[in-house]
Amino acid sequence: MNHILIVEDEIKLARLQMDYLNNAGFNTSVLINGLDVLPWLQANNTDLIILDLMLPGRDGLDICREIRSFSTTPIIIITARIEEIDRLLGLELGADDYICKPFSLREMVARVKVVLRRVPLNNSEPTQHNFNLILDPYRFKIVTNEHEIELTTVEFQLLQTLYEQPARIFSRAKLMDLIYKDQRVVSDRTIDSHIKKLRKKLAEILPNQELIHSVYGAGYYFESIIKAED
Ligand code: CA
Repeated sequence: MNHILIVEDEIKLARLQMDYLNNAGFNTSVLINGLDVLPWLQANNTDLIILDLMLPGRDGLDICREIRSFSTTPIIIITARIEEIDRLLGLELGADDYICKPFSLREMVARVKVVLRRVPLNNSEPTQHNFNLILDPYRFKIVTNEHEIELTTVEFQLLQTLYEQPARIFSRAKLMDLIYKDQRVVSDRTIDSHIKKLRKKLAEILPNQELIHSVYGAGYYFESIIKAED
């Protein structure tokens, strides 16, 4: 199964892209900050990158150039301006295709398939994404193929909340509302410290995977690549 990395800071659009690609049989990950792309690529494999140009943190053009300095992974650039495409083509960024916003998601999936057919698949070895994470609500445990680990009730609820809606950003306030239903007064810091412990536990069983991402000033979201086993 091919993996697609979606780099898109409009969360709603990113979710739609993810849904359409998942429905078409692709695994996906979503990054919403330009600064996260290169570190992610150093730790993970992907078969194709859908890269929005206007991103917080780091400009898409810049990212595209740097990726091309070490990788031939196909890149589809998303731009908001049709007039810009000519200029982009002239820049010889090494992108494999360009799509102009607003675009049809079906069209996007079709273009992804076309680009993938053009390139020989060089990374046929299993990627790090080939595992399942199972949340066991009866025992407050998470289980992977090889390990299991116990969580506290709060850690479990946090993980479950984030995990059930991957790529959705939950604010600290929202998480507090969901988890402390008795309206107990807790500070933002409480959530941060539970997240910190939860990340540490996840890192023990799934090293080198950043599963819970923080978005500065906004909150937390769960990586979108992992699916629960039915
Ligand atoms: Ca954007």
